[in-house]
Amino acid sequence: MLTEFRNEPLTDFTDPKNREAMQRALAAIRTRFGKTHPLVIGGERIACAETFVSTNPSNPSEVVGHFAKATESEAQKAIDAALAAFPAWSGLPADERATVLLRAARILRQKKHLMSALMVLEAGKSWVEADADTAEAIDFMDFYGHEAIRYGGPQPVTALHGEMNELSWIPLGVIAVIPPWNFPCAILTGMATAAMAAGNTVVLKPASDTPMIGQLVFEILEEAGMPPGVVNFLTGPGRIAGDFLVRHKDVRAIAFTGSMEVGLEIHRKAAETVPGQIFVKRTILEMGGKDCMVIDETADLAAAARDIVASAFGYQGQKCSAGSRAIIVDKVYDEVLAKSVALTKELVIGPTDVYENKIGPVIGASAERTILRYIEIGSREGKILAGGAKLPGAGFFIQPTLIADVDRNAVVAQEEIFGPVVAFIRAKDWKDAIDAANGTMYGLTGAFCSNVRERIAYAKRHFHVGNLYFNRKCTGALVGVHPFGGFNMSGTDSKAGGRDYLALFSQAKLWSEKL
Ligand code: NDP
Repeated sequence: MLTEFRNEPLTDFTDPKNREAMQRALAAIRTRFGKTHPLVIGGERIACAETFVSTNPSNPSEVVGHFAKATESEAQKAIDAALAAFPAWSGLPADERATVLLRAARILRQKKHLMSALMVLEAGKSWVEADADTAEAIDFMDFYGHEAIRYGGPQPVTALHGEMNELSWIPLGVIAVIPPWNFPCAILTGMATAAMAAGNTVVLKPASDTPMIGQLVFEILEEAGMPPGVVNFLTGPGRIAGDFLVRHKDVRAIAFTGSMEVGLEIHRKAAETVPGQIFVKRTILEMGGKDCMVIDETADLAAAARDIVASAFGYQGQKCSAGSRAIIVDKVYDEVLAKSVALTKELVIGPTDVYENKIGPVIGASAERTILRYIEIGSREGKILAGGAKLPGAGFFIQPTLIADVDRNAVVAQEEIFGPVVAFIRAKDWKDAIDAANGTMYGLTGAFCSNVRERIAYAKRHFHVGNLYFNRKCTGALVGVHPFGGFNMSGTDSKAGGRDYLALFSQAKLWSEKL
């Protein structure tokens, strides 16, 4: 019997038994490193002439694996395989599709530490961050499994005498799924399983920094009984996705999460019809953010400082929801700043296979260069009171960096840095602080810390972000509890993990029969 959806509990790593289990998982996943991995198209393993390498950002000389570099020819094969698998998969009753996803959730639950260990090593996540990412992926499989059944059931229409009317959700077709590296398990799983749950077939192109995590998810779907061709695993450069999949006449929709630049490019290309195309392509785009914590003088200031630091530096600030701005009213600015600086200086940074290291590396050399460039700009736009430098050695470690007294229109207060950098901004009062919060092109997450109900009520109306939190951090959305997606240049507000999400991967058909 189908039980009610419940979020996967997080692992308590203060328990030595759980720490030992994670140590064993780290050793176990390392035994799989260094191999060469093929594409999987229509269930068939296909090697490519060229490969690319995935490495550990804490220690770039550790090779995670070599991955096939797909060309247009393999991308075409992947689309063909997805088209071939579509009639049977879309024709299955929704509960049979759901069974595959619910089974996959159970398998991932059993392999939880293995998946998290892989994220520690391939993405540089701390144990706690990796565990939360895995738990979110389990939730997505489970939640969309439940949702497939709900969408497959009767849908409400108004009764009309003399007619029988019925509305049903049907799938779209072949969907290109293009996830980012920063939630390499959860977001990849969420977009791919939502597409599957709704009855579509998928060409999945994982991010090139984290292909092995994508592969492990893919293998779990296979183990759960996903028929060949329902998801086709196509590793390779972003260009393959952008130039071939997005423009292809048979790709019905593109589900993308990543940077604004690439998201907008996909949107533009998808809008251009190509010969043979018989539908208007749909795009589901979740993009960047310049999220913030807003603190007024009535807030619990110690808690606010803890939430600022957690939002800014969790996973090294490489979350779309990262609180990269702290906007604080003048009356308490100095106090919150001092508390936040002290907390930032306590953070322990280092290779994340060591549990105690809560701050790991950034994802790679190019990200490191970009972030250091922003820190340099920030050193002119404000005062660096904590961090500000790269650690010596080969790993991509950047100190958690706090820049004080930044103007709200400064570069580091406007552009997404996507690294461990937070800009502190002074506001006149709480309304001015909310105005400053709204003063970027993005609108993904934000948090307002205040103990005045009227101000909270005002923020509900005027603080313009897709996910608005009160008296807590601005990261950490839970599937089903906090459906997630942003406004403005943060994307199409698709609300992943919400009850409208599968509709984006479906189209509604109405039958009306005269009685
Ligand atoms: P990118 O936009 O660089 O890449 C995302 C995906 O797109 C990758 O799979 C990438 O492949 C692929 N890609 C790259 N170029 C193209 C192209 N021209 N056409 C089609 N696909 C392409 O983003 P990141 O992976 O660096 O992710 C970080 C970004 O994601 C941040 O801006 C962050 O805010 C955003 N994000 C948004 C979320 C949200 O819910 N709003 C959630 C999580 C992240 P390859 O890796 O091979 O280059």
